[in-house]
Amino acid sequence: MSEAIDIDSASLASILQEAVRAGADAVHAAGSPKAIQKSDSSPVTLADFAGQCAITESLVRRLGSAIRIAGEESADETGAAGEEETLHGVTEVLNRADTKMQWTIERVRSTLAMSRDAGGAVGSLWTIDPIDGTKGYLRGGQFAIAVGLLVDGAPFAGAIGCPRLGLSSAAADSQGTLAFAIRGRGAWQVPLKGAAAPTQMRARSWSPGGAIRLAESVEAAHSAHDRALAMISPAGSVTCLPMDSQAKYVLLARGDADCFVRLSPKPDYGEKIWDHAAGVVIAQEAGCAASDASGAPLDFRRGRSMHPGAGVFCAHPALHSAVLGGRPQRPAGGTS
Ligand code: AMP
Ligand code: MG
Repeated sequence: MSEAIDIDSASLASILQEAVRAGADAVHAAGSPKAIQKSDSSPVTLADFAGQCAITESLVRRLGSAIRIAGEESADETGAAGEEETLHGVTEVLNRADTKMQWTIERVRSTLAMSRDAGGAVGSLWTIDPIDGTKGYLRGGQFAIAVGLLVDGAPFAGAIGCPRLGLSSAAADSQGTLAFAIRGRGAWQVPLKGAAAPTQMRARSWSPGGAIRLAESVEAAHSAHDRALAMISPAGSVTCLPMDSQAKYVLLARGDADCFVRLSPKPDYGEKIWDHAAGVVIAQEAGCAASDASGAPLDFRRGRSMHPGAGVFCAHPALHSAVLGGRPQRPAGGTS
């Protein structure tokens, strides 16, 4: 039996929230974001590295150093400023975020090295995306601190912290939102900053002919907007809700959106497990169906990336089947 199953739900919920809050504190301590360019020209910031270290440290403190972690950031991607200078900056951020800790460059390097797990189909695997939606973070849009737990290759639990997202579409965003879920225990949200009892999140039900609010990436380079519209619009009248990061799954889980579509314009792009593990379990526990864009189960078992070109489609079950009804489905783990 996987060791994650042996953790009681209350402890797991507390571990998830603590890890996300540690990441959010590190991001906050980094101050104004400044982009460093990775080798694939995507941006990264000191806050990404600091957030990943803070989350890793938090998980290891509660669960021990034998846990397996697949995190987005690596010390090999510290940009043109050079590894030493970047890691020095990360060390300063982490020591500002938690003055009880004594981070050194060596400790930052070894902590980042802990999240290189190759993933796979067996056992418990934590996923970390310290700043999901780095482009949104830099632009003043949404971003998310995401921690997921896969058990035997399936999303089992996860938490998403959204510092710039209010607790409802009407609420001010100053407290941020922390959404979390554990398989079989529902999806919940609390303020990211400050204490309050969790409130349960439920997806809005959808009936054929109803209007459809489509949550999708702001970045056309991450998801083809025209293809998403072509996929969804036969089922009803669509309003697009562009938003960065896994905050989209939170919208869906609490009924502020009806579906989420992700269709990378790069045909060989495999969605990263840390970009979806937490969001998928939160949306499912709120009553949504999640699959790839063809309706096949999302395959988190292949490693750090999912099936190339498969995409993601998450929606209230009635809308999910209205969109995909009659389409051929590729089985999970298929290679074509
Ligand atoms: P979003 O904020 O929804 O645009 O998603 C941000 C995530 O998009 C990042 O964490 C990246 O992992 C991911 N990403 C980067 N390049 C691509 C791409 N070409 N296609 C799909 N997703 C991508
Ligand atoms: Mg991401």
